[in-house]
Amino acid sequence: MNIVLLGPPGIGKGTVATKLSKRLGIPHIATGDMLRENAAQKTKLGLDAKPYMDKGLLVLDEVVIKMIKERLQKKDCKNGFILDGFPRTINQAEEIGKEIKISKVVNIQASDEIIIDRLSKRKVCKKCGFIYHLVHIKPKKEGICDKCGSELYQREDDKPKAIKERLKVYGKETEPLIDYYKDKGILADADGSGTPEEEFELVLKAVSE
Ligand code: ADP
Ligand code: ZN
Repeated sequence: MNIVLLGPPGIGKGTVATKLSKRLGIPHIATGDMLRENAAQKTKLGLDAKPYMDKGLLVLDEVVIKMIKERLQKKDCKNGFILDGFPRTINQAEEIGKEIKISKVVNIQASDEIIIDRLSKRKVCKKCGFIYHLVHIKPKKEGICDKCGSELYQREDDKPKAIKERLKVYGKETEPLIDYYKDKGILADADGSGTPEEEFELVLKAVSE
């Protein structure tokens, strides 16, 4: 199954995708994670992308499209994959649509209030990338990852100014994809306002329909 998770920043795509990947046995491919890894390793791609990411702006289509096309060529994608954070523009959707057939797009929704709360209280593990929320997915020991013992940090783009920009960019560039995929008859909605467990079950249901 070739799945796309669609939804605003902070809706929990990363958390859902990690669980979905385990359940379905297909890889979780997150363009944001790939770009951040590149930035941490100071590759040219990463260094070029970082200023955009830190401000909450989109990285250039051509860069992201090339990166994702290469990733989807890998063997582990042959039985399907879960895309998280891609496509984010109509152009990206058109380009990837030329190469692969998407089976299902799950549109996860919640109010702006919930989204802002999740983003501003989010902490991420420096090493393994596990996502925490200071209230709902609390680490046992403050500032330390339960899974691997590394330090947690706040993403540069989870600071208030960049959050505002990301929501604006989402509305302008990415939201049109909802109708785009609805017209193709492959869109399913899922409520993302509940607990991480509830959200996962609803997305799983949407995928299975
Ligand atoms: P979010 O929590 O906003 O969904 P991501 O981790 O998916 O965060 O993405 C972080 C940043 O990486 C984005 O704000 C953008 O700068 C860049 N990025 C990720 N995916 C894409 C994409 N498909 N197209 C352009 N830029 C992207
Ligand atoms: Zn960790």
